[in-house]
Amino acid sequence: MAECIFCEIMAGRIPAEIVHESPGAVAFMDVFPAARGHVLVVPRTHAPTLQDLDEKGVGELFAVVKAVQRRVMKALHPLGMNVGWNHGRPAGQHVLHLHVHLIPRFEEGGRGIQQVGTGGERADVPKVAAAIRAATP
Ligand code: AMP
Ligand code: ZN
Repeated sequence: MAECIFCEIMAGRIPAEIVHESPGAVAFMDVFPAARGHVLVVPRTHAPTLQDLDEKGVGELFAVVKAVQRRVMKALHPLGMNVGWNHGRPAGQHVLHLHVHLIPRFEEGGRGIQQVGTGGERADVPKVAAAIRAATP
């Protein structure tokens, strides 16, 4: 995947501040940090989204998320952290190689990742739940 910036970083062709490496995933600093200590965790396999990564890769990715979270907590002592990823362009995914953002929080009163939505109808919840249960995983 020559045109993928994250594959290029992992191949060593584009510089990055790498903070953690494992056979399955690499973590490096976000070059435009949303907060001090903003890290991206990236699977070595070029998978555009979570749905493109096999279960072994998912396990390795989240083991690295856990390890890097611990390193950031120990190094920077944030009060909390938003951890997650943007799935698809409408959700704000700009780099089409799966990556988990770790964004440390140093103040109380964070609004939380659920605030990115426009709000759902509470009355719809049972119907929507039934539809999700009816879909095969
Ligand atoms: P997303 O919008 O979820 O696809 O996030 C992509 C992230 O990658 C953004 O937060 C960018 O700041 C970050 N980014 C883009 N290019 C680089 C790079 N060369 N090195 C490190 N982070 C990058
Ligand atoms: Zn890639």
